[in-house]
Amino acid sequence: MDVLGVFVFIENQIMMTYFCRNCWNEINERQSVCPQCGAKQSELDDETFVAKLIRALNHPEPQTPIRAAYILGKLRTNEAIPALLDVVHKNRDFFIVAAAIDALGEIGNRKIIKELQELLIQNPPLPIRIAAERAIRNLG
Ligand SMILES: [Zn+2]
Repeated sequence: MDVLGVFVFIENQIMMTYFCRNCWNEINERQSVCPQCGAKQSELDDETFVAKLIRALNHPEPQTPIRAAYILGKLRTNEAIPALLDVVHKNRDFFIVAAAIDALGEIGNRKIIKELQELLIQNPPLPIRIAAERAIRNLG
């Protein structure tokens, strides 16, 4: 498989969404070259999808970590939890942190509830607060 497909649930329908393995832009299933970054999908190395996504969490272009977090949440991969928590604690971009929290909520591991509650006690900026409250509700 040359492109990464992720099942996304939208209003009770299962949709298959595809992403470029380099920049994580949404692409068409049949596009072998990403229109956003020009990466040839078949020539990308064999690093696992999840490993690439985890690395993308620290990408300098802010939309990339947001997309990576979104996809990791949809994949519900427990392997991503430490990297997502690292983003929550260290990244200074509110929207990236909120995306990481959303992903943690989607992954659904209840062990992170306490961590999110501690985050809320610190009175975080609004996007982070909203994401943390939503994740706690999802996990609860
Ligand atoms: Zn791309």
